[in-house]
Amino acid sequence: MSEAVSPRVRFAPSPTGYLHVGSARTALFNWLYARSTGGTMVLRIEDTDESRNRPELTDAIFEYLAWLGIDYDEGPHYQSERRGRHREVVQQLLDDGQAYLCDVDDNEVPGTDMAEGRAVRFRTPEGTTAINDVVRGEVVVDHAQLGDFVIWRSDGSPTFVLANAVDDADMAITHAIRGEDLLSSTPRAVLVAEALGATPPIYAHLPLLVNEQRKKLSKRRDDVSLESYRQRGYLAPAMANYLALLGWGPRDGVEIRPMAEIIEQFRLEDVNKAPAFFDIAKLEHFNGVYIRELDLEELLAALAPYLESDQVSWPPDRYRSDVVAAMAPLVQEKLRTLSDIEHQVDWLFCPDPAMDEASWDKAVVRGKASVEILDGVIAALADCPWDPDTVKDAVFAVGEANGVNRSKSQAPVRVAVTGRSVGPPLFEPMVHHLTREEVLRRLRNARSRL
Ligand code: GLU
Repeated sequence: MSEAVSPRVRFAPSPTGYLHVGSARTALFNWLYARSTGGTMVLRIEDTDESRNRPELTDAIFEYLAWLGIDYDEGPHYQSERRGRHREVVQQLLDDGQAYLCDVDDNEVPGTDMAEGRAVRFRTPEGTTAINDVVRGEVVVDHAQLGDFVIWRSDGSPTFVLANAVDDADMAITHAIRGEDLLSSTPRAVLVAEALGATPPIYAHLPLLVNEQRKKLSKRRDDVSLESYRQRGYLAPAMANYLALLGWGPRDGVEIRPMAEIIEQFRLEDVNKAPAFFDIAKLEHFNGVYIRELDLEELLAALAPYLESDQVSWPPDRYRSDVVAAMAPLVQEKLRTLSDIEHQVDWLFCPDPAMDEASWDKAVVRGKASVEILDGVIAALADCPWDPDTVKDAVFAVGEANGVNRSKSQAPVRVAVTGRSVGPPLFEPMVHHLTREEVLRRLRNARSRL
């Protein structure tokens, strides 16, 4: 019996200045495989391209892996620091006759001395290569389709395929889990590995991520950077949970669950090849579930950046954290993203909350008896005791006198006071956090619009 080798996987991103949701999914699947098998997770930064070899392009990778809770056991290795090794391998392939030098016009030139201005091509033998991809099954490629491909550029740098194959071999990578867009480069990497006498890793190409039009996610059309999701108020555990389901699902069908359980359930062979729909509505739903699980202290800490930023619509001196602490449990259930909090509480801090015209139109202009209700409520609230139950009863009584039900009598009051037709419970916060004068002023303003 052969001794089982503990898996060694790698996340091998090329720095771009941001972490793409597809890359994050790749990182996560490698990590899930390592953590579910007791294997080793290696991080390798593929920065052979000079223009990518800049720390500011790499920082986002570290920042967002940490945010998602994806750790690694080895690395980061920097491909740019392995130039000497890559050169040595190319020289060896030249010496063995498995590669040849080219001039600027791409014609083969005799000799084996690597020099400035000389590219090197791999001499692809005749035949076929079969890749047994864990996800895609057997993929057979005729070498005639590959031709002799460049492994060393005339500017003295290795190509992606060369560096990738050499590093996988040197780092004893057993499994290469990565995006489907790289499938077409795989036969070349396998040929290079075999030319070096190395065993190529087992490949698993993860399905394409598509948007709702079933088109491949694109930076131009879609929100693809993890940073934008974080900024809009997605929680890391919700995001990680959601990413784990892009191309994979647990056998028991339970989708929303702690990462420890996902690790337990994860099987690389259960990854499917159908394109995975990056469904923002589903992600929002997941996020809502995770937001509801926060206790008050965690919720307030998570919301703070959205309330204390300089983007908010209220004057900073009117902000009151005690009001938010009282409101947070009332609105927790409604939040899909943390940034939703602003519209739940702005009316308590803005002297004149912006009027949402669609709400105004729906609840007031088309609302039956809005004039009568606003006039009646203004009169009733002028001197009634200022407590939530009394105020609520007074508003409903005005509605009843005008033949409209409770929700229709509350609607014009809500729009007048908050600027919107939907929002948190109205009466308690309105009476506790706004003065009678303030509420009356807003009601009169609304009345004067009619
Ligand atoms: N560096 C490649 C990329 O960012 C990935 C290479 C690999 O996973 O094999 O697209």
